[in-house]
Amino acid sequence: LDKHSPDLGKPRYVRINTLKIDTESVIQEFGKITMVRKDDMVPDMLVLPAGIDLHDHPLVVNGSVFLQGKASSMVALALSPEPGWKVLDACAAPGNKTVHLAALMKGKGNVIACELHEHRVKTLDNTIRRSGAPNVDIIRGDFLDINPGDPLFAKVHAILLDPSCSGSGISVERLDHLLPSHSAGNGIDIANSRRINKLAAFQRKALEHALSFPLVERVVYSTCSIHQEENEDVVKSVLPLAASLGFELASPFPQWHHRGLPLFEGSEHLLRTDPADNLEGFFIALFVRKHLPDGNFH
Ligand code: SAM
Repeated sequence: LDKHSPDLGKPRYVRINTLKIDTESVIQEFGKITMVRKDDMVPDMLVLPAGIDLHDHPLVVNGSVFLQGKASSMVALALSPEPGWKVLDACAAPGNKTVHLAALMKGKGNVIACELHEHRVKTLDNTIRRSGAPNVDIIRGDFLDINPGDPLFAKVHAILLDPSCSGSGISVERLDHLLPSHSAGNGIDIANSRRINKLAAFQRKALEHALSFPLVERVVYSTCSIHQEENEDVVKSVLPLAASLGFELASPFPQWHHRGLPLFEGSEHLLRTDPADNLEGFFIALFVRKHLPDGNFH
């Protein structure tokens, strides 16, 4: 971390890879070098002092522990896949959430990890190897090109959609909007808002595609953006389609205080995290299918 990074003041969260090790053993190991406690909400998540560098720690290197933040770890938990399910991770690299899904499924069933970019597929493959997950298959290609009617995907139970986004929740950009040089009408603002609109158009398309899988019961849409355009606006734009397909918004982590911006009925189901929570800026929406379009229930 850069010493000027605002992240330096935040606690270091780490996720335990339960495919390889149990929480108590990790607490014992980390307890030898620093103070450590369990997170009070997210299972298999430890909280360590700010600024601690664990990149070279043997438990990190061998994939027993992932340096994955708390907000990021809430995404796969929101989907809560069951062992034995078929789950699609639509935009998967570098694969932190892919291997979290595999761990939640106790290595049983199948996670299909789809990634568009070849160079990122390599990173995804490394993450999966390091995690020891036995139940992940990689598909290199465009999620939008996957045919939901293809027998390989027709029985997908759950989809995690964490598409490319502005990253405004995790980079210094999250502070940029506070700077005077980014006032309305500024060239950077225009370029940035064009970029965000383009991302939002893709995010909406991808979310509509995820909802169109014939037997999917749960869909999680997440970003590491703080922008309404990529978050509440995307969700709002798909609500009519979602309703016609039998989906409703549900509340991941109902005990979490910080919900979606109050822009439409149901936005209280959405979840936000931000620096005020001592976390990165993330957004999570959970769609749960109540009935199939033909009126039949799952
Ligand atoms: N979920 C990942 C994790 O937790 O490690 C992070 C995913 S990252 C935000 C988005 C990923 O989606 C990028 O690796 C990007 O290359 C990939 N991507 C972008 N467009 C895609 C598409 N149309 N189909 C599949 N993957 C895509």
